[in-house]
Amino acid sequence: MADCLFCRIVAGEIPAKIVKRSEDAVAFRDLDPRAPTHVLVIPTRHIAAVRDAGGEEGERAVGRVLGFAAEVATELGLDAGGYRLVTNTGKDAGQSVDHLHFHLLGGRKLSWPPG
Ligand code: AMP
Repeated sequence: MADCLFCRIVAGEIPAKIVKRSEDAVAFRDLDPRAPTHVLVIPTRHIAAVRDAGGEEGERAVGRVLGFAAEVATELGLDAGGYRLVTNTGKDAGQSVDHLHFHLLGGRKLSWPPG
């Protein structure tokens, strides 16, 4: 989508600290990190949010993104300590970018429940 910030990062039109890239997914450092490791993991295909990820194609895309996120976590050394993978959907959750993204957070003890 031409006016989507994260589609533009996928296309290389906006700079980002890319951690890993595949045909289906991209991982890059969050601009405003909330943990020692804070990476956003997104599908390359535009899906607005998890509520829009239904159907066979959406489920396949999300499955690939989750598998990819697990690889990124391993490569960043998060398996031993653990990590959180979270997605915000809609305004009550504070979603600010309408392109499905999973926050991969780790490197410190994370409190529960989130605020
Ligand atoms: P959310 O509030 O769940 O929609 O998360 C959006 C995230 O995108 C926030 O954590 C922002 O810090 C992050 N963000 C916004 N713009 C950029 C950017 N250009 N590069 C990297 N992260 C970004």
